[in-house]
Amino acid sequence: MSSAADLLAQLVDQLSQGSIRVVDLTQPLSPDTPVIDLPPIFGQSPPLTVERISYYDEPGPMWYWNTLRLGEHTGTHFDAPVHWITGRNLPNNTTDMLPVRQFVAPACVVDVSAQSAAAADFLLTREHLQAWEAEHGRIPVGAWLLLRSDWSKRTGREAFLNADANGAHTPGFEPDALRFLAQERDVRGVGVETVGTDAGQAGGFDPPFPAHNIMHGAGKLGLASLCNLDQLPPTGAVIIAAPLKIVQGSGSPVRVLALVPAN
Ligand code: MN
Repeated sequence: MSSAADLLAQLVDQLSQGSIRVVDLTQPLSPDTPVIDLPPIFGQSPPLTVERISYYDEPGPMWYWNTLRLGEHTGTHFDAPVHWITGRNLPNNTTDMLPVRQFVAPACVVDVSAQSAAAADFLLTREHLQAWEAEHGRIPVGAWLLLRSDWSKRTGREAFLNADANGAHTPGFEPDALRFLAQERDVRGVGVETVGTDAGQAGGFDPPFPAHNIMHGAGKLGLASLCNLDQLPPTGAVIIAAPLKIVQGSGSPVRVLALVPAN
């Protein structure tokens, strides 16, 4: 058996023994799932609506199924590079064209839960990332950078979106941290627990919405509304995040799984 075949056989073994765990990084998706609120001058993304087609009844005596209506960026979801104007003209930038190889990648998890609890507008800097690397090693090419804020533990739309008259107050990244990740580390993308990859106040940053502007401009991906990041080690987890193959899709709801060494 080749070493790759051997490795896959070991993976199957360790999954069945439980020495590799599968952790679900996905929030439940329902009509109550909070969706980002944009200023009213912009088009709005609708929350999920579920319309029943049949439930073992007259319209379908032996079957149950529903019709869904939702924005591509609803709940735990995937951002493709075409989502932002900076990624508009990149090759293979849509959910159907992205190489599937990109959907399996290692994760680096940066724990900013204490800082985010102390200040909702907390921003990760280049210096925070360098300090993380001094402890855990260099962020590998092609890795997801996951921001563990524990924001997913907030319950209810209001606490999750955390908006006031000045907009949303949720943690995120400074532009320079994103330049470091995209240009100096060549990551796969960034993943967050908040409603979108950008900080709540990021509309006023330079550039505006840098997690979208910088990452998608560099062909990088995004994951938003993740949960259970507190169950991941700082390094060593493998993320499986594959969007629906929507033709010319800008993103899609996604089931995100992490393979994690047990204990
Ligand atoms: Mn999105």
